[in-house]
Amino acid sequence: MYEDGLRPLRDVISHFGLDAKKSLGQNFLTDLNLTGKIVRSAEGLGDTDLKDSIVYEVGPGPGALTRAILMNGAHRVVAVEMDPRCVEAQKEIQAAYPGKLNVIQGDALEMNELDLIGDTEGRPIKIIANLPYNVGTALLVKWLTTDQWLPWYSSLTLMFQKEVGERIVAAPRTKAYGRLSVLGQYRAKAKIMFDVPARAFIPPPKVTSCIVGLTPTPEQLETPQQKVLEKVVYAAFNQRRKMLRTSLKALGKDPLPYLAAAGIPQTCRAEELTVEDFCRLAHAYQG
Ligand code: SAM
Repeated sequence: MYEDGLRPLRDVISHFGLDAKKSLGQNFLTDLNLTGKIVRSAEGLGDTDLKDSIVYEVGPGPGALTRAILMNGAHRVVAVEMDPRCVEAQKEIQAAYPGKLNVIQGDALEMNELDLIGDTEGRPIKIIANLPYNVGTALLVKWLTTDQWLPWYSSLTLMFQKEVGERIVAAPRTKAYGRLSVLGQYRAKAKIMFDVPARAFIPPPKVTSCIVGLTPTPEQLETPQQKVLEKVVYAAFNQRRKMLRTSLKALGKDPLPYLAAAGIPQTCRAEELTVEDFCRLAHAYQG
């Protein structure tokens, strides 16, 4: 028994027969000290405290992170879980925290989060999740590409494979710098908080994981339309070894005039451009 009066996570996994499904990216955490550390790393991110916040969690699974979020005093949790077996396992947590945990069965990629969360009573929303690796980056891109400049959440605290985390926070002129770095950094500040070893999971994945903290940037940059930025970044990195004067031809119009308008040498390669350069370039392309 833990301080929340619930059974150990290993017992939850065996009691509910939660043998991990690879197709659902299931690697479960079982140590509440570790999940407590993850949750506390969300404290203060985006200038908001956990106890005042509503937490949106994707893939609560057997509940190691969910329990730590509730133990650390979140106002309430809204979680989306694809696997009905895990939804069933979450009922014990719901009983221990009446009215504080709402679990919806379904695909998080399809969800309108604000509809699920309902009335926030002016409280901030934090997203905290150990994401299924197969849809992790798609979810991140979904959350980073909201229509409003300031999104509906105050911070993101997310588990990724370390290699993905490194791509999100990468600086220009590094091997890891790419589409995810530009999308991650043009509207948010991104930081790797700490690594999580493979042995912390059941079953252990092949690689080390890490926790990435992202907070939306309040000041609006001189930004192009998001869709245009995505298109330009995609074309540039799709042929990352080629000079921009060649790789950008994929966008269908002569790149030389808009490269010149953005003040970017036509011989540059995608990885040499900063996030600000990409924004200028997309502006110039947009015309
Ligand atoms: N949070 C739990 C933990 O830390 O032990 C489980 C994390 S596990 C890496 C990912 C979870 O996401 C699994 O419970 C899986 O069933 C769920 N999942 C997978 N794809 C999903 C999707 N598209 N929408 C919602 N949940 C999904």
